[in-house]
Amino acid sequence: MSHKKRVVVLGAGVTGLSAAYRLSQNPDIEVHVFEKESEVGGLCRSFKDSGFILDYGPHKFYTLIDGVLDEMCKIMGDDFLTREKSQNLFLKGKYFDFPLKISEMLTKFPPHKSAEILASFGVSAVKTLKNKVNPESYEDFIIQKFGKSLYSQIFEPMAYKMFGNPRQLDPQLARVRISSPGLVSVIKQLLSRKNIDRTISAPTFHYPKYGFGMIPERLKENSEANGAKFHLGVKVKELKLANGSISGVAFEDKDGNLQNLSCDDVVYTIPMQAIADLIPSLPASIRQACRFVSFRHTIVYYYLLKSQPVLPAMWVFYPEAKFRFGRLSEMTKFSPYTAPLGHTALMVDFTCDDLDPTWTMDDQQLNELLMDQLKPLKLFKREQVVKNFSKRFRNFYPVYRIGYQERVEKIRGLEREMSNILFAGRLGDFNYNNSDQCFDMGYKAAEQIEKSREVGQAWGELRHNRFEKYRIVD
Ligand SMILES: Cc1cc2nc3c(=O)[nH]c(=O)nc-3n(C[C@H](O)[C@H](O)[C@H](O)COP(=O)(O)OP(=O)(O)OC[C@H]3O[C@@H](n4cnc5c(N)ncnc54)[C@H](O)[C@@H]3O)c2cc1C
Repeated sequence: MSHKKRVVVLGAGVTGLSAAYRLSQNPDIEVHVFEKESEVGGLCRSFKDSGFILDYGPHKFYTLIDGVLDEMCKIMGDDFLTREKSQNLFLKGKYFDFPLKISEMLTKFPPHKSAEILASFGVSAVKTLKNKVNPESYEDFIIQKFGKSLYSQIFEPMAYKMFGNPRQLDPQLARVRISSPGLVSVIKQLLSRKNIDRTISAPTFHYPKYGFGMIPERLKENSEANGAKFHLGVKVKELKLANGSISGVAFEDKDGNLQNLSCDDVVYTIPMQAIADLIPSLPASIRQACRFVSFRHTIVYYYLLKSQPVLPAMWVFYPEAKFRFGRLSEMTKFSPYTAPLGHTALMVDFTCDDLDPTWTMDDQQLNELLMDQLKPLKLFKREQVVKNFSKRFRNFYPVYRIGYQERVEKIRGLEREMSNILFAGRLGDFNYNNSDQCFDMGYKAAEQIEKSREVGQAWGELRHNRFEKYRIVD
Protein backbone atom coordinates (compact mmCIF):
# COMPACT_ATOMS: atom_id res chain seq x y z
CA MET A 1 0.00 0.00 0.00
CA SER A 2 1.44 3.40 -0.96
CA HIS A 3 2.06 5.87 1.85
CA LYS A 4 -0.12 8.98 1.67
CA LYS A 5 1.61 12.23 2.49
CA ARG A 6 0.16 13.50 5.78
CA VAL A 7 -0.11 17.27 6.26
CA VAL A 8 -0.96 18.92 9.57
CA VAL A 9 -2.56 22.36 9.40
CA LEU A 10 -2.32 24.38 12.62
CA GLY A 11 -5.26 26.82 12.93
CA ALA A 12 -8.62 26.82 11.15
CA GLY A 13 -8.88 30.45 10.08
CA VAL A 14 -9.22 31.27 6.39
CA THR A 15 -5.52 30.54 5.75
CA GLY A 16 -5.56 27.10 7.34
CA LEU A 17 -8.93 26.22 5.82
CA SER A 18 -7.90 27.29 2.31
CA ALA A 19 -4.75 25.20 2.56
CA ALA A 20 -6.81 22.27 3.89
CA TYR A 21 -9.42 22.56 1.14
CA ARG A 22 -6.85 22.76 -1.65
CA LEU A 23 -4.82 19.87 -0.18
CA SER A 24 -7.93 17.75 0.36
CA GLN A 25 -8.49 17.74 -3.41
CA ASN A 26 -5.37 15.61 -3.79
CA PRO A 27 -6.16 11.91 -3.14
CA ASP A 28 -2.50 11.26 -2.25
CA ILE A 29 -2.59 13.67 0.69
CA GLU A 30 -4.18 13.14 4.11
CA VAL A 31 -5.07 16.44 5.85
CA HIS A 32 -5.49 17.04 9.59
CA VAL A 33 -6.56 20.47 10.83
CA PHE A 34 -5.97 21.38 14.51
CA GLU A 35 -7.95 24.27 15.98
CA LYS A 36 -8.08 25.35 19.64
CA GLU A 37 -11.62 26.73 19.38
CA SER A 38 -14.66 24.50 19.00
CA GLU A 39 -15.52 26.18 15.69
CA VAL A 40 -13.62 27.19 12.58
CA GLY A 41 -13.11 30.62 11.01
CA GLY A 42 -10.79 32.52 13.34
CA LEU A 43 -11.14 36.25 12.73
CA CYS A 44 -13.60 35.62 9.87
CA ARG A 45 -16.20 33.81 12.00
CA SER A 46 -19.82 34.90 12.42
CA PHE A 47 -22.06 34.03 15.36
CA LYS A 48 -25.79 34.18 16.09
CA ASP A 49 -27.44 36.11 18.92
CA SER A 50 -31.10 37.09 19.44
CA GLY A 51 -31.99 36.48 15.78
CA PHE A 52 -28.98 38.49 14.51
CA ILE A 53 -25.96 37.18 12.59
CA LEU A 54 -22.85 39.04 13.71
CA ASP A 55 -19.26 39.18 12.46
CA TYR A 56 -16.17 39.88 14.54
CA GLY A 57 -15.76 43.37 13.09
CA PRO A 58 -16.65 44.54 9.57
CA HIS A 59 -15.35 42.31 6.75
CA LYS A 60 -15.54 42.83 3.00
CA PHE A 61 -14.24 40.38 0.40
CA TYR A 62 -12.27 42.24 -2.23
CA THR A 63 -9.19 41.17 -4.12
CA LEU A 64 -6.67 42.28 -6.69
CA ILE A 65 -5.03 38.83 -6.84
CA ASP A 66 -5.59 36.98 -10.12
CA GLY A 67 -7.86 33.95 -9.83
CA VAL A 68 -8.85 34.46 -6.18
CA LEU A 69 -12.29 35.97 -6.79
CA ASP A 70 -13.19 33.35 -9.44
CA GLU A 71 -12.26 30.56 -7.06
CA MET A 72 -14.15 32.12 -4.14
CA CYS A 73 -17.24 32.68 -6.33
CA LYS A 74 -17.14 28.97 -7.23
CA ILE A 75 -17.01 28.07 -3.53
CA MET A 76 -19.71 30.50 -2.40
CA GLY A 77 -22.08 30.18 -5.42
CA ASP A 78 -25.31 32.19 -5.18
CA ASP A 79 -24.63 33.05 -1.54
CA PHE A 80 -22.02 35.65 -2.51
CA LEU A 81 -23.69 39.06 -2.73
CA THR A 82 -22.12 41.98 -4.59
CA ARG A 83 -22.28 45.14 -2.51
CA GLU A 84 -21.54 48.72 -3.38
CA LYS A 85 -19.07 49.99 -0.84
CA SER A 86 -19.62 53.08 1.26
CA GLN A 87 -17.22 54.28 3.93
CA ASN A 88 -16.90 57.60 5.71
CA LEU A 89 -14.57 59.43 8.02
CA PHE A 90 -16.02 61.55 10.83
CA LEU A 91 -14.00 64.64 11.69
CA LYS A 92 -14.85 67.86 13.50
CA GLY A 93 -18.55 67.00 13.49
CA LYS A 94 -18.74 66.24 9.75
CA TYR A 95 -18.81 63.10 7.62
CA PHE A 96 -16.28 62.88 4.78
CA ASP A 97 -15.94 60.33 1.98
CA PHE A 98 -12.99 58.01 2.54
CA PRO A 99 -10.32 57.92 1.08
CA LEU A 100 -10.45 61.71 1.33
CA LYS A 101 -11.47 63.71 -1.72
CA ILE A 102 -9.73 67.01 -2.27
CA SER A 103 -13.04 68.64 -3.28
CA GLU A 104 -14.49 67.79 0.13
CA MET A 105 -11.39 68.98 1.93
CA LEU A 106 -11.73 72.33 0.22
CA THR A 107 -15.45 72.70 0.80
CA LYS A 108 -16.03 71.08 4.20
CA PHE A 109 -12.96 72.27 6.11
CA PRO A 110 -12.84 75.97 6.99
CA PRO A 111 -10.71 77.77 4.29
CA HIS A 112 -7.78 78.37 6.67
CA LYS A 113 -7.68 74.62 7.52
CA SER A 114 -7.66 73.60 3.82
CA ALA A 115 -4.88 76.12 3.18
CA GLU A 116 -2.92 74.74 6.15
CA ILE A 117 -3.32 71.14 4.89
CA LEU A 118 -2.15 72.02 1.38
CA ALA A 119 0.73 74.20 2.64
CA SER A 120 2.00 71.54 5.04
CA PHE A 121 1.76 68.97 2.26
CA GLY A 122 3.77 71.33 -0.01
CA VAL A 123 6.48 71.69 2.65
CA SER A 124 6.75 67.89 3.06
CA ALA A 125 6.77 67.28 -0.70
CA VAL A 126 9.61 69.77 -1.25
CA LYS A 127 11.61 68.41 1.72
CA THR A 128 11.18 64.82 0.51
CA LEU A 129 12.19 65.67 -3.07
CA LYS A 130 15.20 67.70 -1.90
CA ASN A 131 16.55 65.29 0.68
CA LYS A 132 15.23 61.97 -0.68
CA VAL A 133 15.31 60.46 2.81
CA ASN A 134 13.82 57.06 3.42
CA PRO A 135 11.16 57.17 6.12
CA GLU A 136 12.32 55.60 9.38
CA SER A 137 8.93 55.24 11.01
CA TYR A 138 5.22 55.09 10.29
CA GLU A 139 5.07 58.75 11.24
CA ASP A 140 7.82 59.77 8.75
CA PHE A 141 6.13 57.83 5.97
CA ILE A 142 2.74 59.48 6.42
CA ILE A 143 4.13 63.00 6.82
CA GLN A 144 6.08 62.60 3.58
CA LYS A 145 2.93 61.51 1.77
CA PHE A 146 0.25 63.70 3.31
CA GLY A 147 1.97 66.54 5.17
CA LYS A 148 2.05 67.25 8.89
CA SER A 149 -1.40 68.79 9.14
CA LEU A 150 -3.39 65.79 7.82
CA TYR A 151 -1.04 63.50 9.75
CA SER A 152 -1.74 65.15 13.08
CA GLN A 153 -5.49 65.45 12.48
CA ILE A 154 -6.22 61.99 11.08
CA PHE A 155 -3.34 59.52 10.83
CA GLU A 156 -1.62 60.11 14.17
CA PRO A 157 -4.66 59.70 16.45
CA MET A 158 -5.88 56.79 14.30
CA ALA A 159 -2.48 55.08 14.56
CA TYR A 160 -2.52 55.39 18.38
CA LYS A 161 -5.97 53.77 18.41
CA MET A 162 -5.17 50.97 16.00
CA PHE A 163 -1.48 50.14 16.32
CA GLY A 164 0.22 52.14 19.11
CA ASN A 165 2.84 54.90 19.03
CA PRO A 166 3.43 55.76 15.32
CA ARG A 167 7.02 56.88 16.04
CA GLN A 168 7.86 53.34 17.18
CA LEU A 169 6.24 51.62 14.20
CA ASP A 170 8.01 50.46 11.05
CA PRO A 171 7.16 52.32 7.80
CA GLN A 172 6.25 48.95 6.27
CA LEU A 173 2.97 49.12 8.19
CA ALA A 174 2.03 52.29 6.33
CA ARG A 175 3.10 50.77 2.99
CA VAL A 176 0.80 47.81 3.54
CA ARG A 177 -2.07 49.54 5.28
CA ILE A 178 -2.37 52.98 3.65
CA SER A 179 -3.33 52.18 0.10
CA SER A 180 -3.58 55.80 -1.07
CA PRO A 181 -0.30 56.91 -2.67
CA GLY A 182 -0.72 60.34 -1.04
CA LEU A 183 -2.00 63.80 -1.72
CA VAL A 184 -0.25 64.01 -5.10
CA SER A 185 -2.45 61.27 -6.51
CA VAL A 186 -5.55 62.77 -4.88
CA ILE A 187 -4.81 66.07 -6.62
CA LYS A 188 -3.98 64.35 -9.94
CA GLN A 189 -7.21 62.43 -9.73
CA LEU A 190 -9.17 65.61 -9.24
CA LEU A 191 -7.49 67.30 -12.19
CA SER A 192 -7.89 64.35 -14.56
CA ARG A 193 -11.46 63.66 -13.31
CA LYS A 194 -10.63 59.95 -13.29
CA ASN A 195 -12.73 57.57 -11.20
CA ILE A 196 -11.17 56.43 -7.95
CA ASP A 197 -8.36 53.90 -8.51
CA ARG A 198 -9.57 50.38 -7.63
CA THR A 199 -6.14 49.52 -6.24
CA ILE A 200 -6.70 52.24 -3.60
CA SER A 201 -10.37 51.89 -2.84
CA ALA A 202 -12.77 49.08 -3.70
CA PRO A 203 -15.87 50.38 -5.51
CA THR A 204 -17.77 47.15 -4.81
CA PHE A 205 -17.03 44.02 -2.82
CA HIS A 206 -18.47 40.59 -2.14
CA TYR A 207 -20.18 39.55 1.05
CA PRO A 208 -21.84 36.23 1.97
CA LYS A 209 -25.60 36.45 2.39
CA TYR A 210 -25.65 35.15 6.00
CA GLY A 211 -22.45 36.64 7.41
CA PHE A 212 -18.75 36.52 6.56
CA GLY A 213 -18.46 33.29 8.55
CA MET A 214 -20.11 31.45 5.66
CA ILE A 215 -16.71 31.52 3.91
CA PRO A 216 -14.82 29.46 6.52
CA GLU A 217 -17.84 27.22 7.08
CA ARG A 218 -18.03 26.44 3.36
CA LEU A 219 -14.29 25.79 3.18
CA LYS A 220 -14.60 23.36 6.09
CA GLU A 221 -17.62 21.55 4.58
CA ASN A 222 -15.85 21.16 1.23
CA SER A 223 -12.63 19.95 2.87
CA GLU A 224 -14.52 17.44 5.01
CA ALA A 225 -16.40 16.19 1.96
CA ASN A 226 -12.98 15.47 0.44
CA GLY A 227 -11.87 13.56 3.53
CA ALA A 228 -9.95 16.20 5.56
CA LYS A 229 -10.07 15.56 9.32
CA PHE A 230 -10.82 18.38 11.77
CA HIS A 231 -9.64 18.29 15.38
CA LEU A 232 -11.62 21.13 16.98
CA GLY A 233 -11.32 22.37 20.56
CA VAL A 234 -7.93 20.69 20.69
CA LYS A 235 -4.72 22.06 22.17
CA VAL A 236 -1.53 21.26 20.27
CA LYS A 237 1.15 20.75 22.93
CA GLU A 238 4.30 20.08 20.96
CA LEU A 239 5.79 19.81 17.50
CA LYS A 240 8.04 16.73 17.58
CA LEU A 241 11.37 16.79 15.74
CA ALA A 242 13.36 14.03 14.07
CA ASN A 243 16.54 14.66 12.07
CA GLY A 244 15.94 18.42 12.29
CA SER A 245 12.49 18.32 10.66
CA ILE A 246 9.04 18.12 12.16
CA SER A 247 7.97 14.52 12.51
CA GLY A 248 4.62 14.91 14.25
CA VAL A 249 2.34 16.76 16.68
CA ALA A 250 1.47 15.96 20.26
CA PHE A 251 -1.98 17.19 21.27
CA GLU A 252 -4.43 16.95 24.12
CA ASP A 253 -7.77 15.55 22.98
CA LYS A 254 -11.15 16.69 24.35
CA ASP A 255 -10.92 14.18 27.22
CA GLY A 256 -7.52 15.50 28.27
CA ASN A 257 -5.57 12.52 26.86
CA LEU A 258 -2.23 13.21 25.22
CA GLN A 259 -2.02 11.86 21.68
CA ASN A 260 0.58 11.86 18.91
CA LEU A 261 0.14 12.10 15.16
CA SER A 262 3.05 11.78 12.77
CA CYS A 263 3.19 14.07 9.72
CA ASP A 264 5.26 14.93 6.65
CA ASP A 265 4.56 18.68 6.43
CA VAL A 266 3.06 21.43 8.60
CA VAL A 267 1.15 24.54 7.53
CA TYR A 268 1.54 26.85 10.52
CA THR A 269 -1.18 29.56 10.76
CA ILE A 270 -1.39 30.14 14.55
CA PRO A 271 0.38 33.11 16.24
CA MET A 272 3.99 33.07 15.08
CA GLN A 273 5.53 33.49 18.54
CA ALA A 274 3.69 30.39 19.84
CA ILE A 275 6.28 28.22 18.08
CA ALA A 276 8.56 28.85 21.06
CA ASP A 277 6.08 26.98 23.28
CA LEU A 278 5.63 24.15 20.79
CA ILE A 279 9.32 23.34 20.19
CA PRO A 280 11.17 23.23 23.54
CA SER A 281 14.58 22.77 21.87
CA LEU A 282 14.54 26.03 19.86
CA PRO A 283 17.77 28.02 20.22
CA ALA A 284 17.83 31.03 22.55
CA SER A 285 18.12 33.53 19.66
CA ILE A 286 14.84 32.33 18.16
CA ARG A 287 13.12 32.34 21.55
CA GLN A 288 14.28 35.92 21.98
CA ALA A 289 12.86 36.83 18.55
CA CYS A 290 9.56 35.19 19.55
CA ARG A 291 9.40 37.40 22.66
CA PHE A 292 9.69 40.52 20.46
CA VAL A 293 6.88 39.51 18.10
CA SER A 294 3.49 40.60 19.40
CA PHE A 295 -0.09 41.25 18.35
CA ARG A 296 -2.65 43.73 19.53
CA HIS A 297 -6.02 42.54 20.73
CA THR A 298 -9.44 43.64 19.54
CA ILE A 299 -12.68 44.48 21.32
CA VAL A 300 -15.91 44.55 19.36
CA TYR A 301 -18.87 45.98 21.25
CA TYR A 302 -22.30 45.16 19.79
CA TYR A 303 -25.48 47.22 20.09
CA LEU A 304 -28.46 45.24 18.81
CA LEU A 305 -31.07 47.89 18.03
CA LYS A 306 -34.76 48.07 17.27
CA SER A 307 -34.22 50.64 14.57
CA GLN A 308 -33.76 51.32 10.90
CA PRO A 309 -30.06 51.52 9.84
CA VAL A 310 -28.29 54.27 11.81
CA LEU A 311 -25.00 54.99 10.02
CA PRO A 312 -24.58 57.06 6.83
CA ALA A 313 -22.23 54.38 5.39
CA MET A 314 -21.33 50.72 5.91
CA TRP A 315 -18.56 51.80 8.23
CA VAL A 316 -17.24 55.11 9.54
CA PHE A 317 -13.76 55.84 10.90
CA TYR A 318 -13.46 58.10 13.96
CA PRO A 319 -9.85 59.30 14.18
CA GLU A 320 -10.33 61.92 16.92
CA ALA A 321 -8.86 61.05 20.31
CA LYS A 322 -12.13 61.93 22.08
CA PHE A 323 -13.54 58.65 20.71
CA ARG A 324 -11.92 55.54 22.22
CA PHE A 325 -13.16 53.47 19.27
CA GLY A 326 -11.71 53.72 15.77
CA ARG A 327 -14.68 52.60 13.73
CA LEU A 328 -18.41 51.99 13.76
CA SER A 329 -20.01 49.59 11.29
CA GLU A 330 -23.44 48.17 10.63
CA MET A 331 -24.05 44.53 9.72
CA THR A 332 -27.39 45.13 7.96
CA LYS A 333 -25.65 47.33 5.43
CA PHE A 334 -23.43 44.39 4.46
CA SER A 335 -26.38 42.01 4.15
CA PRO A 336 -30.03 42.69 5.01
CA TYR A 337 -30.37 38.99 5.89
CA THR A 338 -28.35 39.43 9.09
CA ALA A 339 -31.00 41.04 11.35
CA PRO A 340 -34.70 40.58 12.13
CA LEU A 341 -37.01 42.98 10.28
CA GLY A 342 -36.98 46.50 11.74
CA HIS A 343 -33.69 45.87 13.56
CA THR A 344 -30.06 46.68 12.97
CA ALA A 345 -26.73 45.84 14.62
CA LEU A 346 -24.08 48.45 15.29
CA MET A 347 -20.51 47.23 15.87
CA VAL A 348 -17.99 49.41 17.70
CA ASP A 349 -14.42 48.17 17.24
CA PHE A 350 -11.05 49.14 18.63
CA THR A 351 -7.73 47.57 19.52
CA CYS A 352 -5.84 47.27 22.83
CA ASP A 353 -2.73 45.85 24.35
CA ASP A 354 -2.64 43.96 27.65
CA LEU A 355 -2.01 47.14 29.66
CA ASP A 356 -4.89 49.14 28.18
CA PRO A 357 -7.55 49.72 30.89
CA THR A 358 -10.37 49.02 28.38
CA TRP A 359 -9.05 45.47 27.86
CA THR A 360 -10.01 44.53 31.44
CA MET A 361 -13.18 46.65 31.81
CA ASP A 362 -16.36 44.64 32.24
CA ASP A 363 -19.20 45.07 29.72
CA GLN A 364 -21.10 47.52 31.92
CA GLN A 365 -18.11 49.85 32.35
CA LEU A 366 -17.35 49.64 28.65
CA ASN A 367 -20.97 50.39 27.79
CA GLU A 368 -20.96 53.49 29.99
CA LEU A 369 -17.75 54.74 28.39
CA LEU A 370 -19.03 54.09 24.87
CA MET A 371 -22.54 55.47 25.44
CA ASP A 372 -20.99 58.75 26.65
CA GLN A 373 -18.92 58.99 23.48
CA LEU A 374 -21.71 57.84 21.15
CA LYS A 375 -24.32 60.24 22.57
CA PRO A 376 -23.25 63.35 20.59
CA LEU A 377 -23.39 61.32 17.36
CA LYS A 378 -27.18 60.91 17.89
CA LEU A 379 -27.30 57.50 16.20
CA PHE A 380 -29.77 55.79 18.55
CA LYS A 381 -31.51 56.17 21.91
CA ARG A 382 -30.94 53.93 24.95
CA GLU A 383 -34.50 52.60 24.75
CA GLN A 384 -33.83 51.23 21.24
CA VAL A 385 -31.11 48.88 22.55
CA VAL A 386 -32.38 45.28 22.54
CA LYS A 387 -29.09 43.84 23.79
CA ASN A 388 -25.50 45.03 24.19
CA PHE A 389 -22.32 43.08 24.87
CA SER A 390 -18.68 42.75 23.86
CA LYS A 391 -16.48 40.09 22.31
CA ARG A 392 -12.74 40.26 22.95
CA PHE A 393 -10.02 38.57 20.97
CA ARG A 394 -6.35 38.24 21.61
CA ASN A 395 -3.80 38.34 18.78
CA PHE A 396 -5.50 40.26 16.00
CA TYR A 397 -3.17 42.97 14.69
CA PRO A 398 0.50 42.19 14.04
CA VAL A 399 2.51 44.99 15.69
CA TYR A 400 5.06 46.16 13.11
CA ARG A 401 7.33 47.65 15.77
CA ILE A 402 10.63 49.03 14.43
CA GLY A 403 13.00 46.05 14.47
CA TYR A 404 10.26 43.47 13.87
CA GLN A 405 11.49 42.52 10.39
CA GLU A 406 14.80 41.01 11.50
CA ARG A 407 13.06 39.07 14.31
CA VAL A 408 10.35 37.74 12.02
CA GLU A 409 12.98 36.75 9.42
CA LYS A 410 14.90 34.91 12.13
CA ILE A 411 11.81 32.86 13.00
CA ARG A 412 11.00 32.28 9.31
CA GLY A 413 14.52 30.88 8.98
CA LEU A 414 13.08 27.72 10.58
CA GLU A 415 11.35 27.03 7.25
CA ARG A 416 14.73 26.54 5.58
CA GLU A 417 16.27 24.69 8.51
CA MET A 418 13.43 22.25 9.07
CA SER A 419 12.32 22.17 5.43
CA ASN A 420 8.80 20.90 6.17
CA ILE A 421 7.05 23.81 7.92
CA LEU A 422 5.46 26.85 6.24
CA PHE A 423 4.47 29.98 8.15
CA ALA A 424 1.31 31.36 6.54
CA GLY A 425 -1.48 33.85 7.12
CA ARG A 426 -2.00 36.89 9.29
CA LEU A 427 -0.91 35.29 12.55
CA GLY A 428 1.35 32.51 11.31
CA ASP A 429 3.44 34.60 8.93
CA PHE A 430 3.02 37.83 10.96
CA ASN A 431 1.70 39.45 7.84
CA TYR A 432 -0.91 42.23 7.86
CA ASN A 433 -3.21 40.28 5.50
CA ASN A 434 -6.79 40.45 4.48
CA SER A 435 -8.84 37.30 3.95
CA ASP A 436 -8.34 37.21 0.15
CA GLN A 437 -4.59 37.24 0.73
CA CYS A 438 -4.93 34.53 3.37
CA PHE A 439 -6.93 32.48 0.87
CA ASP A 440 -4.18 32.94 -1.72
CA MET A 441 -1.49 31.99 0.81
CA GLY A 442 -3.43 28.88 1.83
CA TYR A 443 -3.71 27.72 -1.78
CA LYS A 444 -0.07 28.49 -2.48
CA ALA A 445 1.02 26.56 0.62
CA ALA A 446 -0.95 23.56 -0.64
CA GLU A 447 0.57 23.82 -4.13
CA GLN A 448 4.04 24.08 -2.65
CA ILE A 449 3.53 20.97 -0.55
CA GLU A 450 2.14 19.07 -3.56
CA LYS A 451 5.06 19.79 -5.81
CA SER A 452 8.11 19.87 -3.58
CA ARG A 453 9.81 17.76 -0.95
CA GLU A 454 11.79 20.69 0.49
CA VAL A 455 9.02 23.24 0.88
CA GLY A 456 10.84 25.76 3.09
CA GLN A 457 13.24 27.29 0.55
CA ALA A 458 10.67 27.78 -2.23
CA TRP A 459 8.22 29.28 0.25
CA GLY A 460 10.72 32.00 1.11
CA GLU A 461 10.99 32.91 -2.57
CA LEU A 462 7.20 33.02 -2.98
CA ARG A 463 6.96 35.24 0.08
CA HIS A 464 9.44 37.67 -1.39
CA ASN A 465 7.90 37.71 -4.87
CA ARG A 466 4.24 37.50 -3.97
CA PHE A 467 3.16 37.79 -0.34
CA GLU A 468 5.30 40.82 0.47
CA LYS A 469 3.57 42.67 -2.38
CA TYR A 470 0.09 42.29 -0.89
CA ARG A 471 -1.52 45.62 -0.05
CA ILE A 472 -4.72 46.29 1.92
CA VAL A 473 -7.33 48.03 -0.25
CA ASP A 474 -9.75 50.28 1.64
C1 LIG B 1 -11.63 44.10 12.80
C2 LIG B 1 -11.12 43.40 11.57
C3 LIG B 1 -11.59 43.76 10.32
C4 LIG B 1 -11.14 43.09 9.19
N1 LIG B 1 -11.65 43.41 7.97
C5 LIG B 1 -11.34 42.68 6.89
C6 LIG B 1 -11.97 42.92 5.64
O1 LIG B 1 -12.76 43.85 5.49
N2 LIG B 1 -11.66 42.12 4.60
C7 LIG B 1 -10.78 41.08 4.72
O2 LIG B 1 -10.59 40.35 3.74
N3 LIG B 1 -10.13 40.85 5.88
C8 LIG B 1 -10.39 41.62 6.95
N4 LIG B 1 -9.77 41.38 8.15
C9 LIG B 1 -8.64 40.44 8.19
C10 LIG B 1 -9.06 38.99 8.24
O3 LIG B 1 -9.95 38.78 9.30
C11 LIG B 1 -7.80 38.17 8.44
O4 LIG B 1 -6.88 38.47 7.45
C12 LIG B 1 -8.02 36.66 8.37
O5 LIG B 1 -9.18 36.28 9.04
C13 LIG B 1 -6.81 35.98 8.97
O6 LIG B 1 -6.93 34.59 8.79
P1 LIG B 1 -5.84 33.61 9.38
O7 LIG B 1 -6.32 32.24 9.07
O8 LIG B 1 -4.49 33.98 8.88
O9 LIG B 1 -5.81 33.88 10.93
P2 LIG B 1 -7.00 33.60 12.03
O10 LIG B 1 -8.33 33.89 11.46
O11 LIG B 1 -6.62 34.36 13.24
O12 LIG B 1 -6.88 32.06 12.27
C14 LIG B 1 -5.95 31.49 13.13
C15 LIG B 1 -6.64 30.34 13.83
O13 LIG B 1 -5.69 29.69 14.67
C16 LIG B 1 -6.33 29.33 15.87
N5 LIG B 1 -5.30 29.13 16.89
C17 LIG B 1 -4.59 30.08 17.55
N6 LIG B 1 -3.73 29.49 18.40
C18 LIG B 1 -3.89 28.15 18.28
C19 LIG B 1 -3.27 27.02 18.85
N7 LIG B 1 -2.31 27.14 19.75
N8 LIG B 1 -3.67 25.79 18.45
C20 LIG B 1 -4.63 25.64 17.52
N9 LIG B 1 -5.28 26.69 16.94
C21 LIG B 1 -4.89 27.92 17.30
C22 LIG B 1 -7.26 30.50 16.15
O14 LIG B 1 -8.28 30.14 17.05
C23 LIG B 1 -7.77 30.80 14.74
O15 LIG B 1 -8.95 30.06 14.45
C24 LIG B 1 -10.16 42.07 9.31
C25 LIG B 1 -9.67 41.72 10.57
C26 LIG B 1 -10.13 42.39 11.68
C27 LIG B 1 -9.58 41.99 13.01
